[in-house]
Amino acid sequence: MNKQRTQALLTAIDQATDDLIELTQALVRIPTLNPPGDNYREICEFLDLRLKKSGFNTEFVRAVDAPGDNDRYPRWNIVARHDGSNRGECVHFNSHTDVVEVGKNWTVDPFAADLIDGRIFGRGTCDMKGGLAASIIAAEAFIRVYPDYSGAIEISGTADEESGGYGGVAYLAERGYFATDRVQHVIIPEPLNKDRICLGHRGVWWAEIETHGRIAHGSMPFLGDCAVRHMGAVINEMEKSLFPALQLKRTAMPVVPEGARQSTLNINSLHGGQSEQEDDYTGLPSACVPDSCKMIIDRRFLMEESIPEVKSEITELLDRVKANRSDFSYEINDLFEVQPTMTDQQAPVSVAVTDAIKSVLGKAPEYVVSPGTYDQKHIDRIGRMKNCIAYGPGILDLAHQPDEYVSVDDMVDSAKVMGLSLVQLLNAQ
Ligand SMILES: [Zn+2]
Repeated sequence: MNKQRTQALLTAIDQATDDLIELTQALVRIPTLNPPGDNYREICEFLDLRLKKSGFNTEFVRAVDAPGDNDRYPRWNIVARHDGSNRGECVHFNSHTDVVEVGKNWTVDPFAADLIDGRIFGRGTCDMKGGLAASIIAAEAFIRVYPDYSGAIEISGTADEESGGYGGVAYLAERGYFATDRVQHVIIPEPLNKDRICLGHRGVWWAEIETHGRIAHGSMPFLGDCAVRHMGAVINEMEKSLFPALQLKRTAMPVVPEGARQSTLNINSLHGGQSEQEDDYTGLPSACVPDSCKMIIDRRFLMEESIPEVKSEITELLDRVKANRSDFSYEINDLFEVQPTMTDQQAPVSVAVTDAIKSVLGKAPEYVVSPGTYDQKHIDRIGRMKNCIAYGPGILDLAHQPDEYVSVDDMVDSAKVMGLSLVQLLNAQ
């Protein structure tokens, strides 16, 4: 690396601090709430203007007929590309543009993006408009300092990460935007803290379990068969055998927080018997034995486990319950599944970001894995790209919280890390 030029790059990023603040504020002031998927077109148009000015070519892609897409709430995405003066590898920064609902207990306006004591406050500052802005500033500074570079830089703003990514990265990956013949390195600037590299995430399996019963008059329950009692037996068996067993399944994946470094199961919801009435209903329930009880489970699993294993653990549990209850019958329906993924710490993108963190922050990064999934799942599964990490500014714990913020210093530091990563990955001299 040419020391003078890398120093010029770092200086250029420092000098762009005000621009970085204004860019983040402008992005946060476009409220892209999901659900329902507000203002996706507006934020893409804003990014389009900005990136065209910096010499990018842009493409708008609407995820037609993806879940949630309709004429009122179209799922718009933008993919911007800047080609260097010679052919070479492409580095892609992917950020989602959607933010989650505001929720209660804010002490500031969630869409004013006020700058207070070096922090920008608002919904989506940390997750992840601050990361998107940092990647734009990094790419623009790199292009100014290395106008003769080889390769390409892509920046995408994608929809719906918070609701599964089907109207965003999954849709683009299915159409070849995340494929190894087009893109070689992917950085997702999710808020993982500026000194950590996130290599991947645990797996997920969601399913609905239903126990069956038989309706009868509630005064003579012996004439019916109570589906809720059957589900009670299922929960009992979970407490007795499943939860203790999950606790013992530890992983070599460096999942943070520490509590998630094992298999987990959340009972997401449980419903049996009559539907709940509206709040203003003043009548009494009628006397019935419930003939159905449904439970949704959210099972997070490890690289050391396979999906068939995870599923048969539950069917075996249900069969054990059945062996002790003559009337017990159940159904189980798959709702959703995602394989765990973990990029090799020695993958080129991870090595480059590691080296950049060392130069900017003077220490080695911590390698982590996320307890929940994010868009890397689609880049891995559909795009079959293994050279992908998440790296970006912001404190992970603040995501989705009231008074969410991102600190300006963190954004500047991670923009520098992104800039130096570009130098290394594109072999710029
Ligand atoms: Zn996010």
